[in-house]
Amino acid sequence: MQTRRTFIGLVPLASVALLAACSKKVEPVPEVPPPSPLPAPPAPAPAPAAAATTTTTTAEGLVDPTSPKAVELSFVLDDETSKNPKHVAGAECSNCALYGGKPGDASGPCPLFAGQRVPAGGWCTAYTKKA
Ligand code: SF4
Repeated sequence: MQTRRTFIGLVPLASVALLAACSKKVEPVPEVPPPSPLPAPPAPAPAPAAAATTTTTTAEGLVDPTSPKAVELSFVLDDETSKNPKHVAGAECSNCALYGGKPGDASGPCPLFAGQRVPAGGWCTAYTKKA
């Protein structure tokens, strides 16, 4: 019975302690700044620079003389405009051994510019006189 009396005597003290604990002023929670927006994902890596051997075409589908490979070969759409000292009068794609066009064709394929056409009147430093 000693235990029950002790318990009953402790109940009011526990109640007072509980009330005191609950009545404590609650500290305001410091305001948390909003999370900063996630950084933008990195931009995709740029495509590797065009190799010096690539070519582009003109609107007419001919080799673009400003493309890297054409510049490398001093290619011109009109042989008469060539300022390259290797060019000789009359030398043009139509009488070059590498030219794949038929006589009279305005343009034809050249293995140096695979998949593209060169004009019959074009020229480049790889010109080789047709036999
Ligand atoms: S190799 Fe001959 S056909 Fe080809 S672009 Fe040069 S000159 Fe023209």
